Amino acid sequence: MEYIVSQKLFTEARKYIPGGVNSPVRACKSVGCDPVFITKAKGASVFDADGNEYVDFVCSWGPMIMGHAHPDIIEALHGAVVNGTSFGAPTPTEIELAAMVVEAVPSIEKVRFVSSGTEATMSAVRLARGYTGRNVVVKFDGCYHGHADSFLVKAGSGVITLGIPGSPGIPDDIVKNTISIPYNNLEILEKTLRDEELDIACVIIEPVAGNMGCVAPQSGFLEKLRSLTEELGIVLIFDEVITGFRLSYGGAQEYYNIIPDLTCLGKIIGGGLPVGAYGGKAEIMDNIAPDGPVYQAGTLSGNPLAMAAGIAALKLLQRAGFYDELEAKARGFAERLQNVAGASGVPVQLNRVGSLMTSFFTGEQVTDFDSAMKADTDTYAKHYRQMLSKGIYLAPSQFEVAFISAAQSENDLEKALKMTEWSFKNLL
Ligand SMILES: *Cc1c(COP(=O)(O)O)cnc(C)c1O
Repeated sequence: MEYIVSQKLFTEARKYIPGGVNSPVRACKSVGCDPVFITKAKGASVFDADGNEYVDFVCSWGPMIMGHAHPDIIEALHGAVVNGTSFGAPTPTEIELAAMVVEAVPSIEKVRFVSSGTEATMSAVRLARGYTGRNVVVKFDGCYHGHADSFLVKAGSGVITLGIPGSPGIPDDIVKNTISIPYNNLEILEKTLRDEELDIACVIIEPVAGNMGCVAPQSGFLEKLRSLTEELGIVLIFDEVITGFRLSYGGAQEYYNIIPDLTCLGKIIGGGLPVGAYGGKAEIMDNIAPDGPVYQAGTLSGNPLAMAAGIAALKLLQRAGFYDELEAKARGFAERLQNVAGASGVPVQLNRVGSLMTSFFTGEQVTDFDSAMKADTDTYAKHYRQMLSKGIYLAPSQFEVAFISAAQSENDLEKALKMTEWSFKNLL
């Protein structure tokens, strides 16, 4: 494959945009190559500026569960755009999407729309602090909750990928109010939450971690987290920006039957347009302005195009059997991938929950941030470049998930398996 046009575009982009990208992992630094520039996508495929076609396992980092340019979503957008693109006033469509979200997600009685996952988590934490009158946020090592100041302590996603311990530019006074503890460690969890001197307002967690690669909650972990927070009057926030409408229509909370106090959504809920949301018990949500004193606002919040795309996306996901089919497809693919890895002799730990999966290049189980960090990122980098050269588009980092979508066909998955087999042979 040739990347001549992408190379030219990257040179041009770096003149005007820091690092040539608008989100850091896209620059592909940790996989040792330059990014390809995408010009269009359809179904399971993305196409770059040189005309190369790839089977896409990034899926815009999660939103494209139906594949790219789904005709229903495109039609909904066409229908909405002719009526104007933004009014900064209430619209009927935001009620429709809000009612769908309240109906779908067990913990949500009321919901507020914002424009990104970062805004959702940032606002949920402000609300939890305002509601409890306490300051401290507890999070888990390797979880990523967007780029708001409070969360960039031992954070996942690009923060791990680039090897940044936290981030400069965040005052110590803010960092001091964030406590990050290991994922899946019941003992440290209990000890931390029971420490009365800590003044804990909330615990925020990815119920399935997706930003240190895919790491499942061990049996009993979410249950214990729920019972402790309930007992201690600490607000429990599920960051379901990836897992919402992904693991089931009601998200991870429905999948595991554990109901948090507040839930953050993003990605799938916008059908590929910029949407986030946070919601929960009415008793807590009623503290948000204008009903209550906790301020949160947004010029483009509830944007009519974004709402139209979100409604169309959710309608597609309501089809009976959708999540069972996605699970079966992902399970079958993971089993065959496991066989390919086993036969190759390359040490790989395959973690999967539903349609989220990560192949970690390590011989040991991956259950938390420390074990994820044992993965060999140089081997991942080589694998990434080899797969790209054969038309398979993976996340340009070891510490992300591969997304299975409804659009990937048996042929697409078979091609990915064949190329993986070839790539693993060439890693040794
Ligand atoms: C992507 C992500 C976010 C941030 O969402 P943005 O839309 O990128 O701001 C927050 N939490 C989780 C779990 C995510 O995966």
